[in-house]
Amino acid sequence: MRLSKMLFVTLRDDPADAEIPSHKLLVRAGYIRRIGSGIYAYLPLMWRVLQKVSQIVREEMNATGAQECLLPQLQPAELWKESGRWDTYTKAEGIMFALGDRREQDLALGPTHEEVITTVARDMIRSYRQLPIHLYQIQTKFRDEIRPRFGLMRGREFIMKDGYSFHGDEESLQATYQDMYTAYSNMLRRSGLAFRAVQADSGAIGGSGSQEFMVLAEAGEDEVLYTEDGQYAANVEKAVSLPVDAEASSFTSYEKKSTPGTETIEKVCHYLKCSPTQVVKNVLYETIYDNGTTVLVLVSIRGDQEINDVKLQNELTKLAPQYKAKTILAITIPNTESQSTWAAKSLPLGYIAPDLVDAYIDTKKQVHGKFLRLVDKTAIDLKDFVTGANESGYHVVGANWGEQFKIPEIVDIRKAKAGDRAVHNPEQKLQSARGIEVGHIFQLGIKYSQAMGATYTTPEGKDEPLWMGCYGVGVSRLAQAAVEQSYDKDGIIWPVAIAPYHAIICIPNINDGKQVEVAEQLYTELNKVGVETLLDDRKERAGVKFKDADLVGIPYRIVTGKALANGKVEVVKRASKESDEIAIEEVVSTLKNWVEEELKV
Ligand code: ATP
Ligand code: MG
Repeated sequence: MRLSKMLFVTLRDDPADAEIPSHKLLVRAGYIRRIGSGIYAYLPLMWRVLQKVSQIVREEMNATGAQECLLPQLQPAELWKESGRWDTYTKAEGIMFALGDRREQDLALGPTHEEVITTVARDMIRSYRQLPIHLYQIQTKFRDEIRPRFGLMRGREFIMKDGYSFHGDEESLQATYQDMYTAYSNMLRRSGLAFRAVQADSGAIGGSGSQEFMVLAEAGEDEVLYTEDGQYAANVEKAVSLPVDAEASSFTSYEKKSTPGTETIEKVCHYLKCSPTQVVKNVLYETIYDNGTTVLVLVSIRGDQEINDVKLQNELTKLAPQYKAKTILAITIPNTESQSTWAAKSLPLGYIAPDLVDAYIDTKKQVHGKFLRLVDKTAIDLKDFVTGANESGYHVVGANWGEQFKIPEIVDIRKAKAGDRAVHNPEQKLQSARGIEVGHIFQLGIKYSQAMGATYTTPEGKDEPLWMGCYGVGVSRLAQAAVEQSYDKDGIIWPVAIAPYHAIICIPNINDGKQVEVAEQLYTELNKVGVETLLDDRKERAGVKFKDADLVGIPYRIVTGKALANGKVEVVKRASKESDEIAIEEVVSTLKNWVEEELKV
């Protein structure tokens, strides 16, 4: 391609809305253009990158025996009602764009395709003889994200590879899951990315596990906790660890104490000269279930520990049937305004005990009349602990479970953090890193097939629900993540495998016939042997051309300049800025070798 014929516009200044380097660079180098919040045009250079990523993804998927297909983006609401996700996706999370057609039928723009594929499987898979089977697609997804940002990283319209496998038993599902682990590792390695596979939260769906593939980068929205020995890595949402040991309590008898102005753990510990590890902290949450019931949740946890919101949400979802509900619409820490909607009298905030009486809840309101009381494992082991006295300005000390306080339902909802000891080996400390989630593989089990009646006939002639796995890669997010991992002050440094072009030829002086002639000849020959080459034949100064080539990040730059006098051209490697003079007749074979070497990985 000739730059003179391309829609090639580079910007000197960073776009005002861009916060992270990869977003700034992709806009400045003319790869993407913002059309609206979380909506981008992929310009020709970007489209080539996306197609290269897609092709790597496709090759690795096909190698596992998965088959490519294309599912509809327009999805009838009925399917989502059958799976029970219509309300969650349109109301609770509100992530799905819903619309109506001219006959007033509800439809949605697909944020994901479990419902569609399960419908296909239900209709077409009859017998164990057809199993296992794995279909995937590479397609645009729509999600009404709360905070679209960082360019293609979190868009409202983005490209995903999503695959769904169907099996007769869990063993077969696990085998495909392992194949996907390998395929995803290959995709990322081939795309030139440094990544880490981590244990991930599989939400309330359960199943026997899920892993996320994280591209390591400071700008990552996810926190990963891992150990140096390589034995453990997990998303912080899922991570487990051993908390530091609690200090022995200095209080030997149960007593109520006046502790004025101590509504935080820090203040009460200072006042009572005790460690936060001797305190039982009680945190109040308000959760709304999908049937409209509000339940007030009182969580007790050791004073030095924090609550992991994802783990709490999973526990509350598990308890939904207790309130005749299926799922959760929202969990919040009630502020003054929301307290006023259900509190019968003013709460002793900062001084709450695990046994705060239910009489605080105004039963006239549409609120469940009893607190749901949960206690984290860390608080259960404490002896002679400190906690609130349910009265402003007072705490109790020397308290014990089973004596002053009934033991609530025990759960594990503590947040693991960097510095904690690892469970597999307490000598190992958890370390923290930032990651960009580019892929997620998931053993779904029979959740969707059961809900939607997708069954198959076993060799014994019995009807059983299909076992299912799902596997996603954010193609557009991955492409941008590559930039986030590889750039310098001058611009993007693409890994050769996903660069839009391998090489760019710059003609320093377009009025010099010899320069133009050599450039044209190399341009034709390089492209002929498969070295994808751009020709900068614009009427611009050499300096402008070099700057643009660096910004756009093409791996090899060929300059038909001064060296021509010796029958040579200058070749500069973008990543290292290493420059060589190579004889004109050797340029094509040299470049071809370099590119082939890079693509071998
Ligand atoms: P996140 O936690 O980042 O929102 P997710 O858990 O919603 O991701 P999945 O539903 O598992 O993501 O989707 C599979 C992949 O699609 C993700 O691993 C990610 O790479 C990509 N992806 C998800 N949401 C977006 C988005 N809004 N923009 C770009 N890519 C996305
Ligand atoms: Mg998401």
